[in-house]
Amino acid sequence: MRIEQDLKLDFKDVLIRPKRSTLTSRSEVDISRDFVFLHSRRKYHGIPVIAANMDATGTFEMAQALARHQLCVALHKHYGEAELLAFFAEQAMSPASFYSMGITAPDYDKFCRVKKLAGDTIQNVCVDVANGYTKAFVGFIHKLRAAYPDITIMAGNVVTGEMTEELILDGVDIVKVGIGPGSVCTTRRMSGVGYPQLSAIIECADAAHGLHGLICADGGCTSPGDLAKAFGAGADFVMLGGMLAGHDECASEIVEQDGVRKMRFYGMSSREAMKKYAGGVAEYRAAEGKDVLLDYRGPVENTVQEILGGVRSACTYVGARTLKELSKRTTFIRVTQQLNEVFGQA
Ligand code: 5GP
Repeated sequence: MRIEQDLKLDFKDVLIRPKRSTLTSRSEVDISRDFVFLHSRRKYHGIPVIAANMDATGTFEMAQALARHQLCVALHKHYGEAELLAFFAEQAMSPASFYSMGITAPDYDKFCRVKKLAGDTIQNVCVDVANGYTKAFVGFIHKLRAAYPDITIMAGNVVTGEMTEELILDGVDIVKVGIGPGSVCTTRRMSGVGYPQLSAIIECADAAHGLHGLICADGGCTSPGDLAKAFGAGADFVMLGGMLAGHDECASEIVEQDGVRKMRFYGMSSREAMKKYAGGVAEYRAAEGKDVLLDYRGPVENTVQEILGGVRSACTYVGARTLKELSKRTTFIRVTQQLNEVFGQA
């Protein structure tokens, strides 16, 4: 057993220090990014915020709504082949949506069939497992990269620099970072495993950028300020679940509670999801996600405007004319929230 003594931080533990700025308005800030992906060599232009591949948020409707603002979606993996083909055939969205999959043989076979028919309309894939540290996951990435040299692969999740490096060397373009921070995730409580998300982003971004790879900070953002902190910490992309849930574009059930309209939102490893897609929770495992009711929030448009406005505002406060400059101009200051929680003074 070992105890690591280094301080690890979450979004709530820091604020961004304001800096002298020559910007006079948020409208002067450009929060789009341009990337050329390391392995696929494909070009990306857009606002690097991605809707999570959860069945509530990774929907075709969300893809359409977000594309108006140059954001994109990682589609959830439960769509059927015919509907995926129809969607990819029609989509002329930029940036293009991600096709998502797990690492089972049926996942791979389904992808091969769809990709064969969809051709180059599928350019981006998201390979998503709860634990990106397994040999099986690395083996899957090798197989996928060898078969499809020119697709952009986003894969994870991991939280440490050494595994980020390994995945980039294995063929991943964008490493997905985050174990346990998700709004409907119970991994930390169920398994005791996790990593404070801000530190995970800082460490994984540093490792990835050293190899010309990229990272996507996945989970834990609860406000536009958290996205600003994630970008400030070095994230190239940010993935959102809960912040985009509760909207018309989500494939979620609306429930009336005490006269208030709510929307159901559950983790993809929750009992609810497993019941829906796998016929229940297997005997050897426990659910690692929960089911919540969120206030119904109408169309996602207003939420997107709020998110983008918040990130632009952060850039203005630190004098970053572009999103790319934000991390270079970010100094985090630690705030006392943790101590307050411990001593009950919050
Ligand atoms: P959020 O933006 O809601 O805080 O986090 C979204 C992320 O939570 C997803 O992209 C995914 O990585 C993670 N997630 C979604 N469902 C589950 C779940 O059931 N269990 C765990 N451990 N993580 C989940």
